[in-house]
Amino acid sequence: MSYPTQARVDLAAIRHNVAVVRERAPGAEMMVAVKADGYGHGMVPCAEACLSAGADRLGTAFIEEALVLRAAGVEAPILSWIIGPDDRLADALDAEVELSAGAAWLVDDIAKAARQTGRVARLHLKVDTGTSRGGASAADWGDLLDRALAVRAEGLVEIVGLWSHLACADMPGHPSIEAQIARFDEALAMAERAGAGGSHVVRHLSNSAATLTIPRARYDMVRPGIAIYGLSPVPEIDDFGLRPAMTLAATVTLAKRVPAGSGVSYGHVYVTERETTLGVVPIGYADGISRRATNLCEVLAAGRRRKVTGRVCMDQLMIDVGDDPLSAGDEVILFGPGDQGEPTVQEWADHLETISYEVLTGIGSRVRRVHTEGSGPAPAR
Ligand SMILES: *Cc1c(COP(=O)(O)O)cnc(C)c1O
Repeated sequence: MSYPTQARVDLAAIRHNVAVVRERAPGAEMMVAVKADGYGHGMVPCAEACLSAGADRLGTAFIEEALVLRAAGVEAPILSWIIGPDDRLADALDAEVELSAGAAWLVDDIAKAARQTGRVARLHLKVDTGTSRGGASAADWGDLLDRALAVRAEGLVEIVGLWSHLACADMPGHPSIEAQIARFDEALAMAERAGAGGSHVVRHLSNSAATLTIPRARYDMVRPGIAIYGLSPVPEIDDFGLRPAMTLAATVTLAKRVPAGSGVSYGHVYVTERETTLGVVPIGYADGISRRATNLCEVLAAGRRRKVTGRVCMDQLMIDVGDDPLSAGDEVILFGPGDQGEPTVQEWADHLETISYEVLTGIGSRVRRVHTEGSGPAPAR
């Protein structure tokens, strides 16, 4: 069965990328971030591929995502790190999902859920070392530790992790990196003195960029995301031998000759210079293809790169293939690993002045995720 739009995800590439990252972080555990539907790649199959390739744990933003993994039968340790008031704490504890806490009120809520369910919560205490996002500020870290130790004494929680997140890991040499590492070390020392340390406690700080470029930020565990999907977090520096896992493809619904001077798509921002063949491609901004790709981004069609011509619409975009042969049913590749000359998602991100993460996670639910071994069928030529 073929679908008009497909995001083919090469699970062999995912496993390769796990091995690449593993080699860069010897001795550290690996927790792969599979939030946001595995960065748009399909969370469950990607999680399973990562675990089969030797990843130790999984990380999700929300409890809801962790519960989806558990419902699919994933048994590996999972940490969820964005938790709000009235969240599904009891469900998380019943499913043995580890929880991040960066505020004393949340420790109290988790302890309450532990009391209700009869489960012992496994906590990763988060310190804000300078990203000014989640986690306890330095001034509140002592209180957070005290609260966690108090409920630990009641047998309601275990403290299994101490962690933080870097703001500028993808900007090697940025002064904030050293400052955050120093503050993390201070927070760890304070936890140790308070009795919240020990060899069973996992200390973790590094996303993909830090894992690949800042050896001393690896601590006991790294938390790569984007690198596992095959994109470099620092594309201007190195691709690290990572392989992009996703190929985004769509099948032409109509190809037709039009005369010179034809205005194409809304607003006629593209006008044909001569008689030419246009292809209608059934993917648009409702599927995550930015309207800013108009007359800018490229796709592979009929064996060559073509610009997206005319405005990207909600459900469709247009290409101009000149006198090359194109028919309904031919496949157009928007991006992929680049093997066949197609653009990469990094090229799309560069054109759109954003990061690969945004392009990948923006791909909508109408695009069928198809998981393959290898980069999938060859495009129509
Ligand atoms: C998303 C996320 C990661 C992974 O980040 P990448 O840049 O994709 O490697 C790691 N840690 C936290 C807290 C995250 O939210």
